[in-house]
Amino acid sequence: MSDFSVTDAQLSILAQMKISAIKAVDLHDSLGRVLAKNITANRNHPPYDVSAMDGYAVIHADIATTTPDAPISLSIVDDIRAGQMPKITIGKGQAARIMTGAPTPAGIDTVIRVEDTTLNGDEVAILTPPQKGANIRPLGENLKTGHVVLTKGTLITPGVLAILAMVKQKQVPVFGKPTVAILSTGDELEAIDEPIDENKIPNANSHALYAQCKSLGIEATLLGIAKDDPEDLRAKLTEGLRYDVLLASGGVSVGHHDFVRPILDELGITFHFWRVAMRPGHPLAFGTTENGTAVFGLPGNPVASMVCFEEFVGPALRAVMGHKKILLRTVQARLPHNVKGAGNRTLFIRVTLELDDQGYVASLTGAQGSGVLMSMALAEGLMIVPADSGTLQAGDMVTVQLLQGMDCQSESDL
Ligand code: AMP
Ligand code: MG
Repeated sequence: MSDFSVTDAQLSILAQMKISAIKAVDLHDSLGRVLAKNITANRNHPPYDVSAMDGYAVIHADIATTTPDAPISLSIVDDIRAGQMPKITIGKGQAARIMTGAPTPAGIDTVIRVEDTTLNGDEVAILTPPQKGANIRPLGENLKTGHVVLTKGTLITPGVLAILAMVKQKQVPVFGKPTVAILSTGDELEAIDEPIDENKIPNANSHALYAQCKSLGIEATLLGIAKDDPEDLRAKLTEGLRYDVLLASGGVSVGHHDFVRPILDELGITFHFWRVAMRPGHPLAFGTTENGTAVFGLPGNPVASMVCFEEFVGPALRAVMGHKKILLRTVQARLPHNVKGAGNRTLFIRVTLELDDQGYVASLTGAQGSGVLMSMALAEGLMIVPADSGTLQAGDMVTVQLLQGMDCQSESDL
């Protein structure tokens, strides 16, 4: 099988993903999840015409010709607070004092801001006339009873959650989350709770992948470290196949002790591809079981494992959770220096982003070897150098994917 391009690999994975079943969660737990049903308003909001300002409710015809030099005065016959229903109908030459959010009284058609008036005892002088109808929020401006206000597939942001609260959706129908297991493989690996052995390599991948899942709202299960030993691998991979998604890192290359693929093969996995034309991340196996478990054989190099998560696993998990926007958001940035391409492979370079007066500038986070995890620790984004693009020149515009949590900018940009 020849190498898949990044896009073909993504499409091949997404073709295997099925959206999770619907479940109901508490309103607060719905944040960041995807609405699984249309939501209909069960009330009007506002429930009646309300004032948008603190001021005076008036009949526009009474004050249409008022000026600051010859202000028209009205007598104040009522005082309406938010949450109070007005009892008096306002007549010619009259006004009601009214607070923001209070229902407008019968008879009026306009609200004058308090700043545009002067108070004289129980009379109010109107200094400038607004447009007829000004400063009134009409009944149902925000929500109308019986109308669909949120559609299935909507990402639940704080703004969406506020609407759900307004329509009293204490339980929210959302798409479920997949169960995910993470396994690291390699005789050289040292677990986080083991004492330091200078001859070993600390296990970073399990924790990096755990954190990447968690940033998508998924609490993954860590299956620990498997030795480069067929029996241990068989046992731990079998355990992993009980989950919806299995992430195994290391041992997927063509080395003498890379047993992950042959054992998955033996366990009945159908492989859709096992190499992608990219750097980092060339050895990447993807397969499925008859029961629908998706198995990612991720490269062992820590940067490669994390980049493959961002490009392939993250989009797959988002698709399962019903997200419509499954790829990392991109911005255009300027290169401050030349960057050599990687031949026929797509290159993902770890960068920081700074704003100058012409837009974003993408700077490398130091050495870019696939074992240099610091390059990932410092990164705000992944710059894409498409396959076959030769050397990019300083000043060229490039596409940068924003990493999770990197969507705020510096106070110095104020
Ligand atoms: P492999 O893909 O198994 O050949 O591993 C490639 C490189 O990644 C080797 O240098 C490994 O030591 C390293 N590596 C593999 N798994 C991990 C891990 N879980 N944490 C940190 N480094 C790893
Ligand atoms: Mg290995």
